[in-house]
Amino acid sequence: MFSEEEIKAETERMYAKLQHVGFGRALCQMFAPLTLEINRLKKEKNAVILAHSYQTPDILYGIADFQGDSYQLSKNAQDTNAEIIVFCGVRFMAETAKILNPSKTVLLPSPAAGCSLAESITAEDVRELKAKYPGVPVITYVNTSAEVKAEADACCTSANALAIVESFPNDSIIFLPDRFMAKNLQKMTAKKIISWNSACIVHEDFRAAKINQFRKKYPGLKVLAHTECAPEVVDVSDFAGGTNDMMRFVEQNEAPSYMLVTECGLSDRMRAEFPEKDFLGMCGLCPYMKQNTLALILQVLKSPKSEQIIELPENIRLGAERALRKMFEFSKVLVH
Ligand code: SF4
Repeated sequence: MFSEEEIKAETERMYAKLQHVGFGRALCQMFAPLTLEINRLKKEKNAVILAHSYQTPDILYGIADFQGDSYQLSKNAQDTNAEIIVFCGVRFMAETAKILNPSKTVLLPSPAAGCSLAESITAEDVRELKAKYPGVPVITYVNTSAEVKAEADACCTSANALAIVESFPNDSIIFLPDRFMAKNLQKMTAKKIISWNSACIVHEDFRAAKINQFRKKYPGLKVLAHTECAPEVVDVSDFAGGTNDMMRFVEQNEAPSYMLVTECGLSDRMRAEFPEKDFLGMCGLCPYMKQNTLALILQVLKSPKSEQIIELPENIRLGAERALRKMFEFSKVLVH
C-alpha cells in the first residue's frame, strides 16, 4: 500500500527519536506501515491522538499529536478542532477528555486500560464520606472515575494539589483517593487531610533504601520522584511532582544524570527528548498504560467497537465538569 520510499522516509523519521530509547532501524521499519496508515487515517477522519508520557515510544513518537501528563492532555483535548479524540492512556483520562468535549467522539483503544487508584473508590464511597464528615470539602485527584469526580468540590493533579487544598477556607479537607499523595500533602499544609486507603500499584513499590544505594554509586545523581510515591521516597529525592514537572526540571537543570522514580515510559520519553543526558533505571511498568498498541489504535480508528467509545450520562458529565473547572479556576489556568 505504501511505496518503498514512503516506508524508508517513515523509518528514518521514527529512528531519529527512537534510536535514543534503543529501537533499531529494523524495528522502526517494522512499525512504519502501521504508523503511516494510522497517520493517514487520522487526517482522513479529522482525528487527533493524545498520548500520555507512560505510553510506549512507538506510540509517543510514531503517531501522537500531543504527549504529556493528564492535565496537559486535558488542555490539548479542550483546544483541538478535531472531531475525534483518540486517547492513548487509561480510562479516567479518556473520560476527562469526554467531560470537557461532550460533542466530540472520544475513543480509548484498550477498554480494559484502568487504574488502581481510579478503581479503588466509588461514588457511593464518596457519599458515605460526605455523610461522615458533613461540610468538609472533597478534593479528588484526576485519577478517579467521572462518577467520583461528580461528587467532588474540586479536582486536582499532582502539580496543583497543594494550591487547591489551600484555596478552601476549611480546616479539614477530604482528599481522595491516593493515601501517599495525601500524606505528602499533609506535610505541607496545616489543614487536616482526611484520606482514602489506596495507592498506585507502580509508585507504591519504590523504596527509599534503593534510592540511597543509587546515590552512593552515582554521586551527583538527581533523583525525581512522583508525588504518588510514599513520603519516605519523596524525602530522599531532590524533587517531587508530576510527570510534566519532572520534564521541566530536567530541561532546566544542568546535571548530567537523573533517576526518575516513576513509570518506565517517562524515562524513555526523557531519553528521546534529552539524548545528551543520562537516565538511570528505577522504574516500574503500569500494566494498564501498556495495553494500548499501534494495532489497537489502527483498529479503533477504522471501526471503533462500542466499548471503545467513551459515553457518560449527562448528569455525571456535568457534575464532573464542574469539579474539573474548579481545578482550572483555582490553578489560574482558564480553559477557555
Ligand atoms: S501508573 Fe498508577 S496511577 Fe498511573 S494509570 Fe497506572 S496504576 Fe494508575
